[in-house]
Amino acid sequence: MPATVRFAPSPTGHIHVGNARTALFNWLFILREGGRFLLRFDDTDRERSREEYAEAIDRDLRWLGIAPHETFRQSERLDRYETAADRLRASGRLYACYETPEELDRKRKARLRRGLPPVYDRAALALTAEQKRALEAEGRRPHWRFLLETGGPPELAWDDLFRGRQRVDLASLSDPVLVREDGSFTYTLPSVVDDIDRAVSHVIRGDDHVTNTGVQIALFAALGAAPPVFGHHNLLLDASGEGLSKRSGAQSVASYRDAGYEALAVAILAVRTGTSDAAEPVADLAALAASFDPRRVSHGGARFDTAELDALNARILHGLPYDDAAPRLQAIGADGGEAFWLAVRGNCTRLRDAADWRRVVRGPVAASPAPPEDEPVIAAALAALPPEPWDRSTWGPWTDAVKAATGRKGRALFMPIRRALTGLDHGPELAALLPLIGRTDTQARLAASLRR
Ligand code: GLU
Repeated sequence: MPATVRFAPSPTGHIHVGNARTALFNWLFILREGGRFLLRFDDTDRERSREEYAEAIDRDLRWLGIAPHETFRQSERLDRYETAADRLRASGRLYACYETPEELDRKRKARLRRGLPPVYDRAALALTAEQKRALEAEGRRPHWRFLLETGGPPELAWDDLFRGRQRVDLASLSDPVLVREDGSFTYTLPSVVDDIDRAVSHVIRGDDHVTNTGVQIALFAALGAAPPVFGHHNLLLDASGEGLSKRSGAQSVASYRDAGYEALAVAILAVRTGTSDAAEPVADLAALAASFDPRRVSHGGARFDTAELDALNARILHGLPYDDAAPRLQAIGADGGEAFWLAVRGNCTRLRDAADWRRVVRGPVAASPAPPEDEPVIAAALAALPPEPWDRSTWGPWTDAVKAATGRKGRALFMPIRRALTGLDHGPELAALLPLIGRTDTQARLAASLRR
């Protein structure tokens, strides 16, 4: 059976690179194994969920190269969760509780004082129908807990794709609240119902969900379904070792896109940080998928380093073929043909830097007049200018002639010419720029730098 995976963000903010890591691990899994990728918006929190964030998440995923096969929202499926809750109530696995948060807190503290694990004591299981009526007459409304185990072995285990064999002792967990006092659902039940209804075969997510997995496996069983395969990957941290947060907006995928980074650079680093694979350029996500192995992902949190992103981005651009760059160069008015791109790509750390080099090639450049000691070089360069056509081979003989006329060599020869032609001390190889600038402009720029 082909695999089905899902990425399930809450649309309460922009996704950050840590969320992108989860989405990409799911996507790479599908690229390797074949199957379907579902985008599920966990939007049962109506207060904080916003459609504009859902749209932004979809846009961010597509920018990264992820094209979901299907998108759906939990808010459209509330009737399915109600049905599942009723089923659990009927089988005695979902029971009404009436404790207030303060009462629960007191119970927790009392258990801790007695050296007991601070789990819920299931007192509500013993309530009679009459007692419940009395509590409701007081104005209390029930919240609903899932009875985690029913006398079977309290230990659950699964083979985690990333972490190997995992065990959870259900006796160490409180029966989780599935339905709140106001009738809304916590994350747990909708997630399991969706995974069952959509036949999700592999749940790949951050290791902050490891403790939920025991509960969820018990819930799959209580709803008569086999659990999917689970995989929990380590989380990304920021440069100072803090967890990433959707709310802060830092390290958001959108911020990297807006800053002009290559989607592939962000994807490679989001995937390879905290693994034993080096973050180096690969051709595309398929190549990333081919080398992806969950067992090579380390277990601790891993720092996402923006400095590393800069370096990786530059390396990707340095090898980016013209055909891939051309439409994007056109979009920013920086397309100067293949020779132009090949000349400047090595000097771009972001693709948009090409626009600066395009301006340098087209002119006018703001070069200051050559200092008196460099004037002979410029004058000789002017005198030795060969006729067109020009190509990369024009540079050598031309500068040889300037060298012969002035006795200058190396930096003392090239720097005055570079400054006169580009207004800068650094930049792409002049041999490649010269034919792009052309004879007319070269002559004008050299002449201008002699004027003071
Ligand atoms: N909405 C949950 C989250 O963003 C989904 C967790 C899951 O993949 O099950 O953490």
